[in-house]
Amino acid sequence: MKPDARLEKFLLALPKVENHLHLDGALSPQTVQRLAQYVPDSPLKTLSLDEIRRKVVVEKPREALGEVLAAFDAFYPLLKSAAAVEIAAYEAGREAARQNVLYHELRFAPVLQETKEFTPRQALEAALRGADRGRRDFGVGFGVIICLLRPFSVVSREKNEEMAALAVDFAGKGVVGLDVADAGAGNEALSNYTRWLGAGRAAGLGLTAHAGEAPRGRELEDALELGVNRIGHGVQLRARPDLVKAIRAAGIVIEANLTSNVRTGAVSSYKTHPVRDWFDGDVKVSLSTDDPGVFGVDLIHEYRALAQEHGFAPRELAQVARAGLESLFMKEDAKAALRKEFDRRAAAALRDYSA
Ligand SMILES: [Zn+2]
Repeated sequence: MKPDARLEKFLLALPKVENHLHLDGALSPQTVQRLAQYVPDSPLKTLSLDEIRRKVVVEKPREALGEVLAAFDAFYPLLKSAAAVEIAAYEAGREAARQNVLYHELRFAPVLQETKEFTPRQALEAALRGADRGRRDFGVGFGVIICLLRPFSVVSREKNEEMAALAVDFAGKGVVGLDVADAGAGNEALSNYTRWLGAGRAAGLGLTAHAGEAPRGRELEDALELGVNRIGHGVQLRARPDLVKAIRAAGIVIEANLTSNVRTGAVSSYKTHPVRDWFDGDVKVSLSTDDPGVFGVDLIHEYRALAQEHGFAPRELAQVARAGLESLFMKEDAKAALRKEFDRRAAAALRDYSA
């Protein structure tokens, strides 16, 4: 994509939010290098930044989602202490501020950080501490989404139960939502998660699920039946106009992640991503990076892709950012304050662009 100075200025000035951001997929090569120093036997410890980048960043499209999930294997050993998780969440705040992201929802599965000495609860507390320090130092608001995981053969029912209970415990204390994500080839039915998502909803949490990323059974139908507020990816909706209609009618927001979908092979190119059809068809769409560390991109890169690959005008980019804000799992009074700030800054960015 060719740089366009006027557009670049707008992309930075446009206030943004991010609602689909994995804490463990967000580590920059710099943060990976820093965290590796805490891990006694880390193979990353002696590598240069370039070597780390080559090892952990998925820059070319892969054959399958599983190959990209394998890239996370380099990250998980780094996040097995309170200090490391806190740094990761704090650094996500710094990165957001650099891009003029006003608020983000960080998601992760605390059981993946668990060791004999480090409990999922401690992992969650560390993430909340780091994100809160980031809020104070960089002015980026945050909420945490807990990811339940599929399949049970990788993360057991008991571990999912534990995470759902943790999310309910911390509802209103930094945790804002529940997600169902993949820890492996997650081909188990989403309907297995009904009870936990129901408990989350009853505790006031927002609900989202990774669905329709790869072609996999009744995932999208299940997500609809679960009554989720948002769907992560949804690329497979391309072949399902009936479900697009149902999603629009239910007011469900699709969390679009363009580069992620290109690199995992979910779409063959940016141009074939269905985001433009959704937007033009009045489906609510937000934009995120999914895993900025794994894919070596930032949120500005994703907005640039909308502009240059799908012809989104600045006003339309602002609409996408605004839809992201409306989709956030926040209390209405806090959201109203954020909306006011957003509208003021978005109007200024659009004015500058046209000047
Ligand atoms: Zn994701």
